[in-house]
Amino acid sequence: MAEAVREAVDENDGKRDLAVAVDGSWQKRGFSSKNGLVTVTSVDTGKVIDVEVFSKHCICPNKTKHLQNCKRNFEGYSGKMEVAGALSIFQRSQSLYNVRYTKYLGDGDSKAFTSIVENKVYDDHCSVEKLECIGHVMKRMGTRLRRLKTKMRGQKLSDGKPLCGRNRLTEAEIDRLQAYYGLAIRRNLSSVKDMQQAIWAIFLHKLSTDEKPQHGFCPSDSDTWCKFKKAELLGETYHHKNSLPVDVVEAMRPVFRDLANPELLKKCLHGGTQNPNESVNNVIWSRVPKKTFVQLEVLSLGTYNAVSSFNMGNVSKLEILRKMCIEPGDYTVQAIECLDKQRLLRAKYYCLQKTKEVRKEKRLKRKKEDDELLKNADDLEYGGGMF
Ligand SMILES: [Zn+2]
Ligand SMILES: [Zn+2]
Repeated sequence: MAEAVREAVDENDGKRDLAVAVDGSWQKRGFSSKNGLVTVTSVDTGKVIDVEVFSKHCICPNKTKHLQNCKRNFEGYSGKMEVAGALSIFQRSQSLYNVRYTKYLGDGDSKAFTSIVENKVYDDHCSVEKLECIGHVMKRMGTRLRRLKTKMRGQKLSDGKPLCGRNRLTEAEIDRLQAYYGLAIRRNLSSVKDMQQAIWAIFLHKLSTDEKPQHGFCPSDSDTWCKFKKAELLGETYHHKNSLPVDVVEAMRPVFRDLANPELLKKCLHGGTQNPNESVNNVIWSRVPKKTFVQLEVLSLGTYNAVSSFNMGNVSKLEILRKMCIEPGDYTVQAIECLDKQRLLRAKYYCLQKTKEVRKEKRLKRKKEDDELLKNADDLEYGGGMF
């Protein structure tokens, strides 16, 4: 992890104020889990730079009077593990690595972030800034539109029809708007203004009709997703087929206004997500399976083993063996190098396929192809064909 900090500092032009993504994870579903941990990854490199492991398990016979060598290192509500872990990781960053974590990437209104701010972990002149995970921000579009749908149930818009229904705000339409919103953010990481414009472009594009086209914000380059602009470039005429009724689009205006808020978008410019944390959590829980009873020692071993493999590959195992004065045999070395080669190939393959989000887009598109709405949808095509 110290090596990962060095890399992150290098990546950050030698500056020792780092942007980190923080995520808590529990062995069992929900906050009743007795084992949990907090991972902190570098937003710049995606590698793990610190972890905190918690266990409430112990084998003391009398739980009201714990033995002196009791193994547990946490008491109380398991949900608090995230707050406690994040706080101690931030508090030790200077003594451990001589770095400060000045940007905190986490989801929503994180209690851990609040506690870091309240505890003033660094000196008075250094505040910790909140960044949003763009994966989570993107999902807010779906959440907000679904909430709107529930709120408007049974009510009629001024055109006498409900918000939802055929050719109106369907579940498929919500999924699509969410995907477009995510792309509007991800493709404009250089400027809040561009992001804002790309978001309102979706709104206006959906509002456009043959009588009143509103594609001013739509991209006008040759590979634009906007069919109207494309037709314009080719000197053809375009007929709107997939617009939403004005009343439906207008009902969504407050959602767009909130989600195009520059204050929110500013926190997305980094383009980072908690995906690396989620990946390393999966690696950890594959070594310490959810069903297995473990206490702190085994949980910690599993965690550190997972982190070293996650950061450096399987060769880290050879180094661990050597540190324990066990010289690994030829077959061990070969097998581990082979595993790392496969790992690298897989990583390369994933890079070729661009990001996880792109693959998700494709899946989304395939799913939507069954949707009758998409049969005549030729309007907003941000979809898979572009990648
Ligand atoms: Zn105990
Ligand atoms: Zn357009």
